[in-house]
Amino acid sequence: MATTTLRYRVKENSILARMAALILGADKVAIVLGVTIHLHHTGKAEFLANKPWLRHELMHIEQYAQHGSVLFIVLYLSQSLKNGYYHNSFEVAARRAEHIERYETAFTMTD
Ligand SMILES: [Zn+2]
Repeated sequence: MATTTLRYRVKENSILARMAALILGADKVAIVLGVTIHLHHTGKAEFLANKPWLRHELMHIEQYAQHGSVLFIVLYLSQSLKNGYYHNSFEVAARRAEHIERYETAFTMTD
């Protein structure tokens, strides 16, 4: 877990999230790039109120912070190729974070 407060942003109506939705065939999508959570078909209020979903994406924020953006993306993609999306270790950790009470309080949202 983060020892210092990690800052993140939430971007609604993101083109990146829209592309991800098309590729994944999903309706509501949140996808993290660097310090920003990109949303498609969901708003800030709905997303932030869904604590498990918020915690999941915040774990990805923490993973980006731990490894740095470039290395994290390389590691994430290699995990996906090796293990698939569900068994990708970063996704396993993010799903685990969904159940960590108050995990979201270690993070600060900025504009
Ligand atoms: Zn995830």
